[in-house]
Order: sequence, then C-alpha cells, then structure tokens
Amino acid sequence: MDSRTTRPRGHLVRGLINVPDFFTSEGFTWKGPGPWFDLGLCPFHKDQRPSLRGNLETGRVRCMACGWSGDPVAFIMQRHGLPFGQAARHLGAWEDLPDLPPSRLAGGVRRGGAR
Ligand SMILES: [Zn+2]
Repeated sequence: MDSRTTRPRGHLVRGLINVPDFFTSEGFTWKGPGPWFDLGLCPFHKDQRPSLRGNLETGRVRCMACGWSGDPVAFIMQRHGLPFGQAARHLGAWEDLPDLPPSRLAGGVRRGGAR
C-alpha cells in the first residue's frame, strides 16, 4: 500500500509526442531552412544568442553552445527536474501497464516474512 516504493509501471510511447508542437508550446519557434532549425535561447545555460537547434526528422534538439541534447522527454526532465516516467506522463506519452503482484519488488515481504 506504500505508493512511494512502487514505481509506475509502464513505458514511454514516443509516437504520442508531437515534437514540433511540444517545442512550440514551450515557447520556441521553428525558424530556418532545416534540417536543424533555430529554436531559440537555450534554457540550460546562460544563452546570449539563440543556440538551441531542433531537428524535425529525428525529433532531437541540441544546444550548439553548451552541448545539451535530447528529445522532449529529456527536455522536460532537465527543465523541470522530473524523473523519466513523470516527464513522459507530462508529455502525455506514458502508457500504464497493468499492476502485477509485487513479487520481488521492495516491500514484497509482507506475509510470512516476520515471525
Ligand atoms: Zn545551452
């Protein structure tokens, strides 16, 4: 019954993430001819001029100045300090899996363990 020890069961469904829409909703604009579009100021370092670039084909984003690179999930993790699962949820790209009996997971020694 302790939800802290139970990790969310599920997995990321990358296909549910609309990369251009995501970065647009985060306040970026896709500018330039591509394939690496100018997105804007990198939020992960003190950016003086727009260093963040995004690739629509791969869905990856990278900063030409500080070297950060990742996808929307990594972006959310970094920007909001969220763990992977929560970042995926935040993006609406997390699919829950049905709960399984907590066999060998932490906290599974409830009955028959102590005497
Ligand atoms: Zn940067």
